[in-house]
Order: sequence, then C-alpha cells, then structure tokens
Amino acid sequence: MNDVRMGVLGCAGRMGRALLHEISGTEGATIAGGIERSGHETIGQDLGAQAGLGGLDIAVGDDLRALMAASDVVLDFTAPMVTVAAAALAAETGTALIAGTTGIEAEDEARITAAGEKTVIVRAANFCVGVNLLQQLTRQVAAVLDPDFDIEVVEIHHRHKVDAPSGTALALGIAAAEGRGVVHDEVTERGRDGITGARARGAIGYASLRGGNVAGEHSVIFAADNERIELTHKAGDRSIFARGGVRAALWARGRAPGRYSMLDVLGFGDT
Ligand code: NAD
Repeated sequence: MNDVRMGVLGCAGRMGRALLHEISGTEGATIAGGIERSGHETIGQDLGAQAGLGGLDIAVGDDLRALMAASDVVLDFTAPMVTVAAAALAAETGTALIAGTTGIEAEDEARITAAGEKTVIVRAANFCVGVNLLQQLTRQVAAVLDPDFDIEVVEIHHRHKVDAPSGTALALGIAAAEGRGVVHDEVTERGRDGITGARARGAIGYASLRGGNVAGEHSVIFAADNERIELTHKAGDRSIFARGGVRAALWARGRAPGRYSMLDVLGFGDT
C-alpha cells in the first residue's frame, strides 16, 4: 500500500517540528507538506531544514486548502481558531484531521464534532500513548476495587507550570470515578492543608508537586490496609505526543467518517 501522505499545520511550532521528525522516521508515512500562518518568517524556506531535518525540497507554505489537497491526513497542533477552521475545511475536502490543539471551548468542540460527520477526525488533548493507556488501566482497576482502596492522583511537573492539578491528572481522576461509578466532582479532595479532618471513604485525592524541568509524571495510587497498587507514567519530552499523533494518522486512513479519540486508536473505543 502507498505511504500515508501527512501534512503538518503549524510546521515551525514546537509540536510541528517534532511531528516532522516523527513522520520522517516512520515507516509507511511520508511528509506531504507543511504550512505556517501568513507572514511567518519560515514561509518559502525548506520544510525539512527549518525543522532541523535534512532538506526535503518542499517549501513551507501558507495555503491550508493546498495542504489538504496534497495530504491524506493533516496533523494540527496549533491554536483553537486554526483548528476549528481546519476541521471545517477537512469536512469539505474529505482529508482526515488529527487535532491536538488544547484550550478549545465547548461550542467550538461541537463544531469539530460536526465536521466529523463528513471526515475522519481524531481529537485528543493528550496524544501520548502511555498516558491514554494509564487512563484506561485506571478505569479498569477502579472498577474492580471497592472503596476500601483510597484513590490518590499524584503528579510532578516543571517549575513553570501555572495550573494544578494538571489536565492529565484530572483526566485520570475522572477515569477512576467512571470506573468506580461515582460522580468525580462529588468525591474529590484537593489542596489539603492544615487540619483537614480524616480522609473521606471513597474520596479521590490529588497532590501536585512542582520543580526543576520535569516534563510530567503521573501516578494513580490505590491504597488499602496493608497493600497498595500504583500505576505510573513518566514523560521524557514532547516526542511522545508526536509519536501518538503519527500513530493516529496511520490509523485514520480508510476509516469511516467520525470523531474519534486516542482510545479508539488504541482499540479501547467502546469501553
Ligand atoms: P507553538 O506555539 O510552538 O506552535 C504553534 C504553531 O502554529 C506556531 O508555529 C504558529 O505560528 C502556528 N500557527 C498559528 N496560526 C497558524 C495558522 N493560521 N496556520 C498555520 N500555522 C499557524 O505551540 P506548541 O507547543 O507546538 O503547541 C501547539 C498546540 O498543541 C497547543 O494548543 C498545545 O497545548 C497543544 N499540544 C497538544 C498536545 C496533545 O497531545 N494533544 C501535546 C503538546 C501540545
């Protein structure tokens, strides 16, 4: 079968460059092109060279429609309005879209979902395969263990991170609540300090550590009397997101139109 032709939106960004590296090292995938926002300094430069790869003989462009026409799948890790527009155009052209941009409001998410009626869209706030696996394992373990097992989500990130708990930590807590069949927001214990009282039975607790340049580590701890289960993921750098994005792009070709998640890509779709 022919290689999957992959186009990169925001090709000079941190994720864009990581994606170009990942595509170039992936069997069955070919770089179809890359675009940047109009006026960006890299437009007209060699797509590979600007990403620190060898020359590709493809110039960085700024025409999304042309990129869609040249690609089987477009990978988009840019900004909310860009991704919403890309989803609408993907619906028109039938090009598959891997949409990784974060911070998209609910009503814009609904527009992306609508575009998924016409083409394949894989949408995830975290494309890392390991984190998605951790989420799924957390849901399964929480479904088996009763509330004698206290659930705590612990995360550590670099000193510059401004929000806590991390979005991924919250996703893990939500997965635990789903597995246990409880409403997440009704059972969480966050920001413990001082005389907090004893831990509530069935609570899902959070703890956030900050320091150094840690890319991101998450643990879900299930603690009962005399035993403890800990599920942990440790991230190195952003190449893990690019790897998952390219895996999703390989998976997307030939699918029926729909809005899919990374769990679908990993084969956990209906759980
Ligand atoms: P970045 O700022 O380094 O890169 C974004 C790029 O998009 C820039 O080069 C910018 O010029 C370009 N861009 C903006 N408007 C454009 C347009 N109209 N057309 C083409 N290109 C345009 O940011 P980043 O660190 O690469 O992150 C980008 C997004 O991806 C953020 O929302 C981030 O949170 C998200 N992200 C998601 C995951 C995931 O797994 N889902 C992982 C990492 C980052």
